[in-house]
Amino acid sequence: MDKCSFCGREKRDVNLLIAGIDGHICDRCAEQAHAILLEEMKKEGSFDLSGIQLMKPREIKEFLDQYVIGQDSAKKILAVAVYNHYKRLGQQVRDDETEIEKSNIILVGETGTGKTLLARTIARMLHVPFTIVDATVLTEAGYVGEDIESLLTRLLQVADYNVEAAERGIVFIDEIDKIARKGDNPSITRDVSGEGVQQGLLKLLEGSVVNVPPQGGRKHPEQKMIAVNTKNILFICGGAFDGIERKIAQRLNTRVIGYSAAQAADRIERENLLQYIAPQDLKAFGMIPEIIGRLPVLTYLDPLDRDTLRKILTDPKNSIIKQYVKLFELDHIQLEFDEEALWYIVDKAVEFKLGARGLRSICESIMMDAMFHSPSQGTQSLRITRDYASEMLERSHLNRLKAG
Ligand code: ADP
Repeated sequence: MDKCSFCGREKRDVNLLIAGIDGHICDRCAEQAHAILLEEMKKEGSFDLSGIQLMKPREIKEFLDQYVIGQDSAKKILAVAVYNHYKRLGQQVRDDETEIEKSNIILVGETGTGKTLLARTIARMLHVPFTIVDATVLTEAGYVGEDIESLLTRLLQVADYNVEAAERGIVFIDEIDKIARKGDNPSITRDVSGEGVQQGLLKLLEGSVVNVPPQGGRKHPEQKMIAVNTKNILFICGGAFDGIERKIAQRLNTRVIGYSAAQAADRIERENLLQYIAPQDLKAFGMIPEIIGRLPVLTYLDPLDRDTLRKILTDPKNSIIKQYVKLFELDHIQLEFDEEALWYIVDKAVEFKLGARGLRSICESIMMDAMFHSPSQGTQSLRITRDYASEMLERSHLNRLKAG
């Protein structure tokens, strides 16, 4: 007599019995299995912290390598910091034990070198809530600006107001250098906009319970604040710190050779000097010592040279070029780029001084025409040559950037 392999009911006791290779499943068990499946899938989509400790620093770096090109020192330092941070979260602190302090991170490097990408990739790997906030919004409106606490509103929102998840998330604070104290002498320039904001940030960075307006801002005075403990939130700060190499050079007692000379020389100098960056350089730049103390992990990003830009086009797991190939593939069009066309795109990005950020806009301009026409032309394959690329770019509005 056939029976359900899950609940044991016989065929005559159920509405339907589905046969498999080695067994059967009844309608009720199938429905129950379906419900379990939905429940599990819901869990997977949410923020899961159980798997975090499994990734070792080397594995974290390997993960980052799939999405971010180069920046090896930053990756290594980040991998260790993130590993330690989440190891700390797993620690049950007893009185007699050493408590591991949290290590917020500060990344220094030109814009468009991958600071945000690194932070975002780490959050993606960990499945923790992640948000990017801009330090400049804190000062833009003068002294008051936006309330510091509202930096956490976005984090709460991406965590679907799951406070527990938000409290283990990552906040990327961009343009942290913009809240540096202007001028070296704090007694003469009482620069509230910079220093005041830094003071305000302190309490978030060091870990305390803050009241966060769930809708942000002050437009909703009636809203009920949500208490968020920032103790386990990892803050990653990023900034270009323009001109900091001069401070590094001063400290190292060297002259920045060719600082105002050709841009190429400038870049090389920058690259050479940034690797020596130390906390006292941040202080010389106008960050208050307390903030620097709360950002104990300091690392730098290299400027992107031609070879790196070239790799960024094709090598990351979801590289720009791979995305175009996929887009066309969906229309059954085989898309190919000539190597010279790729180098042309790189050279234009360098020429327009757009760095990695420009690669996409240049590609968009080149591909626009083909993306418009090919799907209705029944094209089967398309090869992007250097000539085609330059013709398309010459025509586009982007070329006007050249003048600027
Ligand atoms: P930053 O935060 O340093 O200003 P981003 O991380 O926002 O720069 O980088 C801008 C864009 O440039 C990213 O979306 C990414 O596609 C690309 N990019 C920058 N640096 C890299 C890199 N090292 N590897 C891969 N892509 C990069």
